[in-house]
Amino acid sequence: MDDKVKALLDRVKGTANYAADAAADGARAAGKRAGQMVDVAKLNVQLFDLNGEYNDLMRQLGQVMYDTHKGEVPENDAVNQLLAQADEKAVRIAELKGRISDLKQALTCPGCGEPCGKGDKFCRHCGTQL
Ligand SMILES: [Zn+2]
Repeated sequence: MDDKVKALLDRVKGTANYAADAAADGARAAGKRAGQMVDVAKLNVQLFDLNGEYNDLMRQLGQVMYDTHKGEVPENDAVNQLLAQADEKAVRIAELKGRISDLKQALTCPGCGEPCGKGDKFCRHCGTQL
C-alpha cells in the first residue's frame, strides 16, 4: 500500500470511535421505538432509499482513496464530511432494520387482530388476555 493511501487510512481510523458510539445510540433508539406501530412496507421503502444513499457515499469514499493513490490529496473536510454522512446513514439503516425486525416479531391479538407488544399480558385495543 502506498504511503499516501496509508496516511489517508490513518486519518480515517481516527474517526472510528465516533462511529461506534453513534451505532450504539442508534441501537438504543431502535429499542425505544419498538412499541410504535409503523407500516413495515413504508420502512422498507425508507431502507431502500437509505441503502442507495449509503452506497453512493461508499462509491465517493472509494473515489477519494483512488484519487489519493494517484497523488491527488483530498481536503480533510471533504473526507470527514463523507465519513460523517456515512456514519449517519449507517446508524439510520441499523435503526430501521431494528424497527422492521421488531415489527415483524410483534404479536397479533387473537381477539381483534391488532398488533401487541411482546411483553403485553392483555391486548391494548380490546383487552383480550394474550
Ligand atoms: Zn385485541
